Amino acid sequence: MYAADLAFRVIGDTSYDAAEAAIRRYLEALIFQGQILGREFPTVLQQDNFVSRVLLPAPDALQMHHHSDSGRQALDALQQAGLSYPKTEIAGVDLMSNHTDPCKNADQFILYCRFAQMNSVLYCAEHFAPVPLYRFGTSAGFEDLIRWQLQYQALDEVQMQQNSVLLKPAERALQNFGSQLNRQGRAFARGISQRIAKPVYYALYRGSSTDCEAETQRRCPGCGGDWLLSEPWHQHFDFRCDRCLLVSNIAWQCQG
Ligand SMILES: [Zn+2]
Ligand SMILES: [Zn+2]
Repeated sequence: MYAADLAFRVIGDTSYDAAEAAIRRYLEALIFQGQILGREFPTVLQQDNFVSRVLLPAPDALQMHHHSDSGRQALDALQQAGLSYPKTEIAGVDLMSNHTDPCKNADQFILYCRFAQMNSVLYCAEHFAPVPLYRFGTSAGFEDLIRWQLQYQALDEVQMQQNSVLLKPAERALQNFGSQLNRQGRAFARGISQRIAKPVYYALYRGSSTDCEAETQRRCPGCGGDWLLSEPWHQHFDFRCDRCLLVSNIAWQCQG
């Protein structure tokens, strides 16, 4: 990922409030298209520029053809608020974040989410590296998927806390195949898979087990079939069902 500065030059009459609202609207459109990552974007006024520090999944993320319709509309609204189109300056590679998938056009994907990762939840299945959402098209928008990701991450963070007051409900939501969270997640994977006509696996989280002895004998929760792999996939997934497009792991509690 790349840290970058977006400079919006003041070119007309504007107020602080109008400029802030227009910049906020534009950044939000970029978030929901996967063009910038994270939630907090420090914005400062430097002479006649408002400058926002953002995180890009790839250097080309802000090119015009990656924008959604609402991104383009938000760009026009900047001008109505007296601001120029933003000028992007890449500050450098962010050392704290994941590397984006190197593939131009991957063959299959895994929808995978954990609390600590702010990157795209769609991973290349070959490299297990995140693929920026805008590479999946500009027409549909990804607001629902990103809102789902935020909920998933909030629950994941709750169940990672020791002595969490909401441990069981959070863990159930993450771990149960039929939970609303996982039903929605699978629906996103299915929808994207249909749209791009390529397989999109869904990664089902597994933290705890009531019986570690029997953990490897689990069956696919989708079809009841055999899904244990002889070797873990990406050192991470011990189970995979190619029929249901599901992957999972041996419960963390039962490992090591
Ligand atoms: Zn790849
Ligand atoms: Zn299955």
